[in-house]
Amino acid sequence: MKILVTGGAGFIGSAVVRHIMSCTDHSVVNVDKLTYAGNLESLAGISQGQRYQFEQVDICDRPALDRIFAQQRPDAIMHLAAESHVDRSIDGPAAFIETNIVGTYTLLESARQYWLGLDEERRERFRFHHVSTDEVYGDLDGPNALFVEDTAYAPSSPYSASKASSDHLVRAWGRTYGLPTLLTNCSNNYGPYHFPEKLIPLVILNALEGKPLPIYGKGDQVRDWLYVEDHARALLTVLEKGRVGETYNIGGHNEKQNLDVVQYICDLLDQRRPQRPGGLASYRELIQFVADRPGHDRRYAIDAGKIQRDLGWLPEESFESGIAKTVDWYLENTQWCHNVQNGSYQRQRLGVGGREAT
Ligand code: NAD
Repeated sequence: MKILVTGGAGFIGSAVVRHIMSCTDHSVVNVDKLTYAGNLESLAGISQGQRYQFEQVDICDRPALDRIFAQQRPDAIMHLAAESHVDRSIDGPAAFIETNIVGTYTLLESARQYWLGLDEERRERFRFHHVSTDEVYGDLDGPNALFVEDTAYAPSSPYSASKASSDHLVRAWGRTYGLPTLLTNCSNNYGPYHFPEKLIPLVILNALEGKPLPIYGKGDQVRDWLYVEDHARALLTVLEKGRVGETYNIGGHNEKQNLDVVQYICDLLDQRRPQRPGGLASYRELIQFVADRPGHDRRYAIDAGKIQRDLGWLPEESFESGIAKTVDWYLENTQWCHNVQNGSYQRQRLGVGGREAT
């Protein structure tokens, strides 16, 4: 297959691109605007050539998308491009409405026009895979409830509301126009190449510098953590084997309170980097509780039984193995971290509409 991946320079998108390039024969066209969250250094080992091409394009740019479909003639789309950080969506929701809703609509329309022009056999095989989040379901009631595929949507933040909207658009394009869609809703990811505004990389990098480790409220929010490479494998499995029109929930069976996650990372760092800054006895001393995020959901947890039963996918990493790999990655990949922290990673931008030379 030739797969058009949107958002392939982001955290999960780059894991998907690395997975496709290293474990399959498929080729990739990576369409990414390179916002602050896009980082081509996360794809450093992958060179432009026959199996990989990069297009710096905004998914709201219909003429550019039409050109890419006409030139590249992909067999499938994996749509990951999005504004993804809840705190940013509270401070400035406009970009979330624009990319997550208008951008998904624009991509759907460009894809539909291209799909209608395919011969019957290619039209049958074509897939539009929309990658979404468990946050669309909102807060879970009680300690034992789990999100299933037909849990009612009740998003709490501008981010999750914009993702819920995009999910509805994708389902409508499947139902109304017959576009062969697939939808996945996944729990919180963590792992290498994660932008350090998110909890886990922020905690690792702040701890190493002796900076405070901010925790919202009491730190009792529960999230179901999935190692990003397990998510990438799940997405490929759904693309290759999923039934058209279906939704699959993806989760790690790893429910943890935020405070436990942060303490666990501190303990790993105490073992791996015992020369702590500022004479600390433990990195845990850096933990600071801060005012809770408005509208903060208490608990998310996924029932990933359907993707296991129907498609045979299971996560390979436990939380303990995945978080140890993640901490080690951040300790070993200091150049990637420095370039993100000092902003130099953004020099790779080409100007919107630019293309990397092949
Ligand atoms: P990310 O913020 O790390 O990456 C998003 C990527 O999309 C970046 O490379 C960015 O440059 C690109 N992008 C943003 N706006 C664009 C636009 N208008 N046109 C083209 N490209 C654009 O996000 P992520 O954490 O990798 O998440 C990827 C997808 O997975 C998102 O759709 C997100 O909602 C979903 N998801 C994320 C998680 C998680 O824990 N991170 C969990 C479940 C689902």
